[in-house]
Amino acid sequence: MQIDLTGKRALVTGSTEGIGYAIARQLSRAGADVVLNGRSEEKTTKAAKRLESEGARGSVKPATADLSTAEGCAALVAQIPQVDILINNAGIFQPIDFFDADDEVWDRHWQVNVMSAVRLSRAYLPGMQKLNWGRVIFLASESGFNIPVEMIHYGVSKTADIAVARGLAKRMAGTNVTVNSVLPGPTLSEGVEAMLADEQAKTGLPLEEIAAAFVKQHRGSSIIQRASSVEEVANLVTYLVSPFASATTGASVRVDGGVIDTL
Ligand code: NAD
Repeated sequence: MQIDLTGKRALVTGSTEGIGYAIARQLSRAGADVVLNGRSEEKTTKAAKRLESEGARGSVKPATADLSTAEGCAALVAQIPQVDILINNAGIFQPIDFFDADDEVWDRHWQVNVMSAVRLSRAYLPGMQKLNWGRVIFLASESGFNIPVEMIHYGVSKTADIAVARGLAKRMAGTNVTVNSVLPGPTLSEGVEAMLADEQAKTGLPLEEIAAAFVKQHRGSSIIQRASSVEEVANLVTYLVSPFASATTGASVRVDGGVIDTL
């Protein structure tokens, strides 16, 4: 199976690092014209340069916008009015106990994790519908099913992503526009590295080892018993946005190392 995305324009939100950057790199290597997005112009331009030096085949364009507000989402759409592939990847996660998580914490997670994806889907889906081809992916999480007790606000936002993706797939019924959610398990992105930095400083152990210990302790049902790599998540996303995945829509597809313990 040779995935060729030549001629398709893909926007990956929050793609200066982590899973988003890995997805952008995979799509670009498959020939897509990729738009990278981040909040800082400097970081976004730097990521675009990095991508160009790491085997990009299609064009690479940086688009700076903070997606935590309606204005920020509108600014991105003004820069990039049409895309064939939208990857709603931008997301935040912060472990805070329920009784310490005030409205601001809930609202921040809701705005970035859910509303950015809602706003961008509302902006780009009509164009895809008109062309009768398109792909939208929501980076949800296994935490949307297994609500993590240490960040209930995050789990709830990811459940919402799964629900919105399912609803939008139905809204696109009868077209060649598919909408799916992807559910990674613990994945060794820069965000997770930052979360484990204290533990690494304390123990001096390699990050992969600390991440595996974290997985065993906090996600005991993991079958692979380690964190995934960002590339493993990007591989699934690349398949789902390809023409080969034309009959997969409205699905929540796992790349969680078996964490979700259901059939
Ligand atoms: P990360 O923190 O490593 O990277 C997140 C990216 O989003 C960064 O480029 C950051 O700049 C960007 N971003 C954050 N807020 C933004 C905003 N307001 N506007 C624009 N960009 C913004 O994160 P990651 O671990 O790569 O996670 C990516 C996605 O995958 C998230 O939606 C996350 O919830 C989901 N996910 C991650 C894991 C994991 O273990 N890493 C597991 C399941 C799901």
